[in-house]
Amino acid sequence: MELTDAFKELPTPCYLVDESLLIKNLKILDQVQKATGCRILLAQKAFSMFSLYPLIGRYLAGTTASGLFEARLGREEMGGETHVFATAYRDDEFDEIIKYSDHIVFNSFNQWQKFKAKALAAGRECGIRINPECSTQDHAIYDPCSPGSRMGVARAQFQPALLEGISGLHFHTLCEQNADALEETLKAVEDHFGEFLLQLKWLNFGGGHHITRDDYDVEKLIACIKRIQETYGLKVYLEPGEAVALNTGFLVATVLDLVDNGIHNAILDTSAACHMPDVLEMPYRPNIIGAALPDQKPFAYRLGGPTCLAGDIIGDYAFDEPLKIGDRLVFCDMAIYSMVKNNTFNGMNLPAIAIFTEEKTIRMVKQFGYEDFKNRLS
Ligand SMILES: *Cc1c(COP(=O)(O)O)cnc(C)c1O
Repeated sequence: MELTDAFKELPTPCYLVDESLLIKNLKILDQVQKATGCRILLAQKAFSMFSLYPLIGRYLAGTTASGLFEARLGREEMGGETHVFATAYRDDEFDEIIKYSDHIVFNSFNQWQKFKAKALAAGRECGIRINPECSTQDHAIYDPCSPGSRMGVARAQFQPALLEGISGLHFHTLCEQNADALEETLKAVEDHFGEFLLQLKWLNFGGGHHITRDDYDVEKLIACIKRIQETYGLKVYLEPGEAVALNTGFLVATVLDLVDNGIHNAILDTSAACHMPDVLEMPYRPNIIGAALPDQKPFAYRLGGPTCLAGDIIGDYAFDEPLKIGDRLVFCDMAIYSMVKNNTFNGMNLPAIAIFTEEKTIRMVKQFGYEDFKNRLS
């Protein structure tokens, strides 16, 4: 079966992740590992489709987590190395965090002092997240380097006297960026923290590297990693989320109604607010197969969800033919920051989750229903 046939057969709404496209990304990431000896981890916060973890684990070194639940999922479903960074750990979860994690990264020297004895006694590698104070992007909501940021320790607050027992540093400051932003950030890391790097075992470059995007400069990334490893004699980790599953997934939806209230509205069985919240939060306009900007094709529509939120609007799109009730629309790049952020606002059902396998068949992984909605409420 071809992918385009799969789009016609699925129940909607449904996420469909294409294994062959995922493998293409994983091979690019593995090429970086092989060229440099660095280790690449899946940041589960972007993509936690654990039915694909065995496949991802054949290429990547493991997973990273934002806290206990992701650490457990990574440990149980993929294995390899499990890393965790949380902005603050809870007393009542830390024993379990230790159980599932190989590397534990702390966001402050307070937290490090509080949990140090336990983590070291269990033989865990510990790190401090630093703030290199180098903003390289304009999305304020995704910039952990803004003045007063709660993410990471800036040089002024850094406490070299408390470094005993710390084996690495971690920074995460990029978002959908190319290797030039990494190069600039590394200079800031070296300026502020270079004097400490020689005594450490590893440096974690965080996520936000758009490595699998067509125009990404993989050679520059490789050069950056090699230079840091050779200059300071340490191991480099990368933990991309987006880049692992970038452009590998689709969300297939159906047109439920057409409403002409001065403009042509098409109401779909998928919702921006529930099924693609980054469209509203980031915000951005997802691509649809066969659609264009409103002035570039003859039949333009505003696509909206079936919820009661007036702003549940995906965007304005134009098509070659008029839309009809029952038509299917296929949204692109819907694997990342989608399933992990879904919600059932308005009692919306969650989209089904399916895989288009390497053998070109559909594997329906999960379908949701009333019980999933009810179980989150009381
Ligand atoms: C979000 C995040 C990542 C992954 O970021 P992407 O932009 O999805 O690559 C990695 N590490 C940390 C600490 C993060 O917060």
